[in-house]
Amino acid sequence: MSTILIIEDEKSIVDLISFNLKREGHEILSAFDGGTGLELALSGRADLVLLDVMLPVMDGFEVLRRLRQTSDIPVIMVTAREEETDKILGLETGADDYITKPFSIKELAARIKANMRRTIVRQSEAPKSAPGTYGPFRLDKDLQSVTKNGRTLELTPREYDIICYFFERPSQIISREELMENVWGYDYYGDLRAVDVAMRRLREKLEDDPADPKYLMTKRGAGYYMQV
Ligand code: CA
Repeated sequence: MSTILIIEDEKSIVDLISFNLKREGHEILSAFDGGTGLELALSGRADLVLLDVMLPVMDGFEVLRRLRQTSDIPVIMVTAREEETDKILGLETGADDYITKPFSIKELAARIKANMRRTIVRQSEAPKSAPGTYGPFRLDKDLQSVTKNGRTLELTPREYDIICYFFERPSQIISREELMENVWGYDYYGDLRAVDVAMRRLREKLEDDPADPKYLMTKRGAGYYMQV
């Protein structure tokens, strides 16, 4: 049983989503403006946030920016189909995923499940193993942390999962599709920009010069690989 927080100002949409998610066994919290939504998201009562972009008081991006200062709760942004740049901005601000209006309840349920599953897997992760060293990086699965030259990198849970995936497959070329399926945990919907955005953000944290990467490499037309 998990609790989904819906931050959305259109009451008919909230009602429709609540009705369907309750049938799937979720508990629902809702907020009709960004300010109230942020407070609820920070209260620790929700397991996942469904966040609309256009909101009164404070828009979805501002809610996300403030939320991410202290919380890594899974967030799915809800964007309008014509607002292509919103998807990228949402991901760059720290959303885990996005869904475009109008969406089917089936697609929404699949995305919620995929983003929840990641959280649940992380919480029950076992057995633990000794820290691994990869060039200047050290991966500690007990602490779920990665250090570079002894300094802890500030990673989101998904970034941590991506790094683990690469460390476990040294020098192996990983396609964007493979990453999407194995790290995000679901089949991609013909849109792999989430992977590109995540990799760009990750490079900013891993690399000395993100424009000239030395560790997280691109193999043109094939994918990415880690070189340490
Ligand atoms: Ca709205």
